[in-house]
Order: sequence, then structure tokens, then C-alpha cells
Amino acid sequence: MTTQRTNPAAAPVELRSVTRHYGDGGQTVAALAGVTTAFRAGTMTAVMGPSGSGKSTLLHCAAGIDRPTAGEVLIGGTGLGGLDEDALTLLRRERVGFVFQAFNLVSALTAAQNVELPLRLARRRPAAGEVAAALAEVGLADRADHRPNELSGGQQQRVAIARAMISRPAVLFADEPTGALDARTSRTVLRLLRDLVDRRGQTVVMVTHDPAAAAYADRVMLLADGRIADELPGGGAEAIAGRMAALEVRA
Ligand code: ADP
Ligand code: MG
Repeated sequence: MTTQRTNPAAAPVELRSVTRHYGDGGQTVAALAGVTTAFRAGTMTAVMGPSGSGKSTLLHCAAGIDRPTAGEVLIGGTGLGGLDEDALTLLRRERVGFVFQAFNLVSALTAAQNVELPLRLARRRPAAGEVAAALAEVGLADRADHRPNELSGGQQQRVAIARAMISRPAVLFADEPTGALDARTSRTVLRLLRDLVDRRGQTVVMVTHDPAAAAYADRVMLLADGRIADELPGGGAEAIAGRMAALEVRA
């Protein structure tokens, strides 16, 4: 198994005419129906759209968790279609971070152990202070020994972000990261994601149905029926909500 080569000039993530069909025979669903886009380095993109419009499928295909039916996904210029399962797993581990709505922490492990887990899976010993620094970065230096059930939802999501960032991924994907959080806690998590973009040049792609969350992004992509139906260069929550409403009226 070889280490992935990446082209520094390439976009962190690029999708070329990506389609994803589910099912077979007459019951096929086109979850994605030809999406072409690139996510630029050091930017935050919000992906919005009605339920079932293909947001999660887009993220899963872009992250190499799911394989497109047709079209191509490139991460750092490397086409995922040509990789076998082992190479794809390695690329995901080294280049991709993913955060879920339900946090998905391992309940038996402490915050520090959860953050360390990706390194262990990669058979890499953390450098001294590496895990502590990752927890400090998300404001949880004093929670290292707490288990998930001893942490609030917002704290658990911040641990999940630290875990996703420990491998310094080219891109961090987040699928409704604030979907299970109240408004105040959501703001803490969104500010953290925004901070990763502004201070570290992290590339972030986040699915949300909340215009207030999308207002943190530099770019808002609106999906409908598996296609990019509209797009705006960021903006306030009201402007974003207006465009969402217009999309739903058309549909
Ligand atoms: P969203 O995240 O925007 O709500 P999804 O990407 O989850 O939408 O789903 C898009 C469409 O694809 C929906 O019609 C959904 O039912 C279908 N779909 C998603 N995943 C699967 C799957 N594993 N098997 C069958 N259909 C799926
Ligand atoms: Mg979804």
C-alpha cells in the first residue's frame, strides 16, 4: 500500500458529474443526479436543501464513504474511483475528517482516548501533548478524562471535531453538526468551525438546514432533487432563508 500523493495546486475536494443511484430495477432513486463543484482551500461551505435532496449522499460521496454510480470525486487531486478499498481507507484516514449529527463518540472511552483513536487506527503513536493540544483547541483541556456521558452535547461535538482534526485532514465534513444542539450550544460549535477556517485555513463542508448556521459559511449551496439548484456567496440568515423558501416554492 503506497502513501497517497497529493497535488498542492488541486482543490481539497472536487466532484465531476457525480451521480449516485440507490436500489435496482424499476425502484432506482437518484440521490445525486450530476453534481459538479469544487470546494476551495480555507473556505467554509454550507450545503442546504429539503429533506431527501441528497445532502448526506453528497457528503458521503465527497468523503469517500460512499462510491458514486458515475462521475468522479477527487481529494487533493487524487481520483477516488481508481483506488481499491485499502487505498481508499488510507486516504480517508489521512485526508478526510467527518463529524456527524449524533457525535458518534465511543462511550467507553474518555475524551482524550476518543481523540487519539484515529491515530491508533493508523498505528501512529501520538506525539507528546498532541491529544491535549487538540482538546485545548476545542476548549476542552479540562475534560480529557471525561467519558461522553459526562459531557454536554456541545462538549461531545467539540470532542468529535478534535477527533476529526487530529489527522490534520485536507477537508472536514460535517453532516448537520448542530442538528442535535440548542441554539446557544450550536453557536459555540459553529464559531469553532469558523475559527478552524480562519486561523488554520481548514476547508470545511457542512450540511445544515438552519439558515443561522449557514450564515457562518463563505458559500451556500442549495440542493434539490440531487442537483445544485442555487448557490450564494454567504450572506445573512434572512437572505439565506429567503433563497431556501424560493427553492421550496419552485419544487
Ligand atoms: P438528505 O441528506 O438531503 O436528507 P439523503 O442524501 O440522505 O438526503 O437522501 C437522498 C435520497 O436518497 C433520498 O430519497 C433517500 O431516501 C435516498 N437514499 C439515501 N441513502 C439511501 C440508501 N442507503 N438506500 C436507498 N436510498 C437511499
Ligand atoms: Mg441527511
